[in-house]
Amino acid sequence: MAVFKIAVIPGDGIGPEVTASTCEVLQKVASKSGNEFVFTEVSAGGIAIDTYGEPLPAESLRIAKESDAVLLGAVGGPKWDNLPGKSRPEAALLGLRKELALYANLRLAILFPELKSASPLRPDLVENGVDILIVRELTGGIYFGKRGLEKSDECLPDGTPKGMEAFDVETYSEAEIERILRVGFTSAMQRRKQLTVVDKANILETSRLWRKVTEKIAPEYPEVSVEFMYVDNASMQLLRRPGSMDVIVTSNMFGDILSDEAGMITGSIGMLPSASLGTPGTPGMYEPVHGSAPDIAGKGIANPLATILSAAMMLRYSLGLPEEGEKIEKAVRSVLSQGFRTTDIASSSDTHVLGTKEMTEKVIEAYEKL
Ligand code: NAD
Repeated sequence: MAVFKIAVIPGDGIGPEVTASTCEVLQKVASKSGNEFVFTEVSAGGIAIDTYGEPLPAESLRIAKESDAVLLGAVGGPKWDNLPGKSRPEAALLGLRKELALYANLRLAILFPELKSASPLRPDLVENGVDILIVRELTGGIYFGKRGLEKSDECLPDGTPKGMEAFDVETYSEAEIERILRVGFTSAMQRRKQLTVVDKANILETSRLWRKVTEKIAPEYPEVSVEFMYVDNASMQLLRRPGSMDVIVTSNMFGDILSDEAGMITGSIGMLPSASLGTPGTPGMYEPVHGSAPDIAGKGIANPLATILSAAMMLRYSLGLPEEGEKIEKAVRSVLSQGFRTTDIASSSDTHVLGTKEMTEKVIEAYEKL
């Protein structure tokens, strides 16, 4: 038996509802697997601004750093929309990413076959469901490179003065590339063993370095089949053959764009989990892809499945309990195949539409039976 410390950040809007559901599911996992989860609730986001005057109080950060993993609901809402950047609820996310040194963002785009009618793609393209893991580098590249805005003295070839000129520089070091590629290879080993490295190596020097580093470390993972794909092609292949893709590893900006595209293929934002990881042995952060959904907060109808599936990732990546993570995924699948839905994933013909609490109970019941 092991004891794990989990920092829970409910946050704002539906965050408290979906994290409470997920902790209930995790309690069931604990009692069935003989492990113990010690939950410590910490404040961050809008609620922390209201209570402590800052989005990420030092005490919250300390508890997060001392935990084995962090479970986050969502932060933000219209109440805080007019605050300046650094004082906004979202600053808590950036602060946590920075302080926990989370350099890998893993987003699962899962379309359960039971929900394939929710996908905007033609049914034959998603016949067997979709299960893609996008591994995005999170702390480097163009979003963190040198940037500037200055007045140019030059002209375009036709003589028009350029006016203001802005630049953002993409930089990647070998070490940064290698550590994110290793997350990609390791994840592929735990899945269907196919890794797609997405880049723009026909144009970008950084992409060519990504390829060199991939070729250097690939022999260490002989079971993983590796393909390189230009990002423009990858965005097309995601639509043409989403069912055949397994793990995609890519840079910060390409990952930002492709993970939204892949998420859209599933058609259900309330179903998408994510993980952000740092150096092995340090706490990872797990959260649904969706936001705080202020429009439905407090109504008891939020879909808790994205957060519950994020907890499954936590069991796999941070707590060393992959079988338990898989059981959560199976329980979710079983609930869906029995026809239970929350409003966001229900179609007009669905008759078993449940609220947050009832859906959580169904997942726990299904888990109990596995
Ligand atoms: P959102 O994801 O909160 O909501 C978009 C739509 O999806 C809404 O109609 C909402 O009701 C629905 N939805 C989202 N999650 C759902 C769930 N679990 N169950 C049922 N329906 C769900 O995105 P938004 O409206 O653009 O943002 C709202 C707030 O959340 C903003 O303040 C934004 O900054 C913040 N936000 C936070 C995070 C985060 O904490 N990681 C991420 C994105 C947005």
